[in-house]
Amino acid sequence: MSQAEKNSLTSKASSINRALDQIGDKWCLLILQEVFWGINTFNQMHQATGASRGVLTDRLDWLQSIDCLQKHHGDNGRPIYHLTRKSMELYQTALMAISWERKYFTNPNLDSVELVHRVCGKAFSPQMQCRSCDQAVALNDVQFRPGSGAGQDQRPIKTRRRSPAASRSGESVKNLYINLVNLLGDRWTANIIALAFHGLTRFDDFIRELPVATNILSDRLKLLVDAGVLCKQSYQQSPLRYEYHLTDKGRDLFPFFTALLSWGDKWCETGRGAPMLLSHTPCGSDLIGDVVCDQCGGRLFGRDVKFS
Ligand SMILES: [Zn+2]
Ligand SMILES: [Zn+2]
Repeated sequence: MSQAEKNSLTSKASSINRALDQIGDKWCLLILQEVFWGINTFNQMHQATGASRGVLTDRLDWLQSIDCLQKHHGDNGRPIYHLTRKSMELYQTALMAISWERKYFTNPNLDSVELVHRVCGKAFSPQMQCRSCDQAVALNDVQFRPGSGAGQDQRPIKTRRRSPAASRSGESVKNLYINLVNLLGDRWTANIIALAFHGLTRFDDFIRELPVATNILSDRLKLLVDAGVLCKQSYQQSPLRYEYHLTDKGRDLFPFFTALLSWGDKWCETGRGAPMLLSHTPCGSDLIGDVVCDQCGGRLFGRDVKFS
């Protein structure tokens, strides 16, 4: 197989990769999270994320270069970073991250926070529903088919940047979904989960779809099993072989990925159209997943959500 072929991702992986290539790095996810909650100077972010000054500078430059942050100068001349229209639309992704984190982890920062929807005035849980039929979005109700951009995206031969798996997490009191960031801030794990959503279960299937070294794939599969996102089941006795299946915890990441996928399709467009289309089986429509308030059913936007 030529290097070009090896680096050409199929539609299954490439769709989610448009988003992951831009913001799928642990530090980028942490920085954006902080800016969502109003942390916007270099020193505040340095303290909140635990990133070294060098890493922070690098990621801030990167996020500006892809139009996810804008730099202004404050009263004292120091730079202040703001969200752009593009990054503001990651808010839905952040809400789905919060929802998953709340369900599966005890996180003191998160447990002490209540999300209030200004429109209805109630404390709420965010949930994703289909715009056509208003039903909750779950993996089992979704079908995938290739779109016009299928099989077109190339990925860089080298992964642009890699975060150490175990690095110091920040001290921000608003670090609301650190477990999700730690799990998905490594792009291979995010890719593996995306492929598992398509029904892939075996080592050889993953290796066929991803330009990843075998030892790294083994390592990341183990990490996902340890995290309870995948479970390992033997399908052959001699030699012993395993399949990796999504657990409920893994399947419940689907709304987060759906939000990230639609953001990638909208904002990381290559001019060839979406690589993959999703349809909602219960209603037969193309799936548009809206993140809504479970109390009033209204769509959630950053300006309407209060943290108390
Ligand atoms: Zn529907
Ligand atoms: Zn509401």
